[in-house]
Amino acid sequence: MTLTRDVSHALTKARGIEGYLDSDPALRVRYARAKHLRRVARHSNNYDLTSRCNLFCEGCFYFEGDDYKRAKEEFDLLKWRAFFKTQGEQGVTYANIAGAEPALEQRRIAIAYEFIKRGCVFTNGTIKIDPSIGYAILISVWGDELTTAKLRGGGVFRKALRKYQGDHRARVMFTVHAKNVDQIPAVTRVIADHGIKISFNYYSPTESYLDKLARNESNDDKFFRLSSQDDNLTLTPEALVRVRNAIDEMIDRYPGLVIHSHAFNRVITQPEGIYDVDPETGIARNCNGKSFRWHQTYRVDLNVSNSKCCAPNTSCKSCRLNAIALGSLMFQQERFLDSLNDFRNWLDICDQWGRGHLLESDPIWSVEGETGPLPIDAGETARYAFG
Ligand code: SF4
Ligand code: SF4
Repeated sequence: MTLTRDVSHALTKARGIEGYLDSDPALRVRYARAKHLRRVARHSNNYDLTSRCNLFCEGCFYFEGDDYKRAKEEFDLLKWRAFFKTQGEQGVTYANIAGAEPALEQRRIAIAYEFIKRGCVFTNGTIKIDPSIGYAILISVWGDELTTAKLRGGGVFRKALRKYQGDHRARVMFTVHAKNVDQIPAVTRVIADHGIKISFNYYSPTESYLDKLARNESNDDKFFRLSSQDDNLTLTPEALVRVRNAIDEMIDRYPGLVIHSHAFNRVITQPEGIYDVDPETGIARNCNGKSFRWHQTYRVDLNVSNSKCCAPNTSCKSCRLNAIALGSLMFQQERFLDSLNDFRNWLDICDQWGRGHLLESDPIWSVEGETGPLPIDAGETARYAFG
């Protein structure tokens, strides 16, 4: 019975897509590219490269919680080499390199790049990553100079822009939160003036940060220095509407530089969020960023993490992390099949993932037809299929 229902569902879905492609043949190339992008994202692993950082950001996603205490950093480069070699041999298609601050350990990134040809590095941008590493560099920005100085440290904002001006790998990931909504136009203009591409991340608090707010806990001198119940970074429904409007305006004002889609902005700013959260466990049932066989997170000791995802401290209820939400929606095509317009929105979301995570030189952008192999070996095989 289940099989029959599944087959019938798949057929309906395929007929719906074919109908949309017939009514707008120009979408065929975009659909072909979206399928390639999904293959690239399909076996992506996350790597915590080091448990050290040169900043102390308020509400840090890495240190504001206990998960990082579970692993002791491996320093032997030969072990890192053997590790990434195995990852490459196992067919990992995309490497998400994170921290704390991965730029502190660039030889490890270079080794990852040797064995996994596509990937990105999540960095605070204060240390330039060697130009020979052909990964997308995703630089986190938290607001204008004053806000950044308050939340992360003085000089961080300008330093990151100076270091990455003219670097084709750089994309600023501007994290919007309750205290910088009004800064969105000015900050976007400064980043655009440096010629750096921009996408937006939506502040997603950790469980620990939310607990401290709920308990009205006193501030400390580390990652909870400034917030209180009445004044904090969380995005209220009202703030989400303001965020949505401001980002929509930026998308229209800086085409080509703002690599963010209206479709994603609309979906992610729904007050109820995009995930179906299990009330018993507090974990999102439909998040494709969760750890499973083809999507693992490795901690700094090179062992696979047993946590729910690569951002284990984050609360699923208010999780709007850009990369994970984009990845989830790419693999939840069925949410976007009710109309031609919805289907176009899904294509926009897939493109947004690609523009943010792959370089312009990637052969995927020259995909022209619906059939045929990828122009390069993506290390992808049918056995990775889950979405
Ligand atoms: S740069 Fe990242 S890892 Fe370092 S303190 Fe800030 S949020 Fe945490
Ligand atoms: S990525 Fe976000 S929604 Fe998904 S499991 Fe992690 S915290 Fe939850």
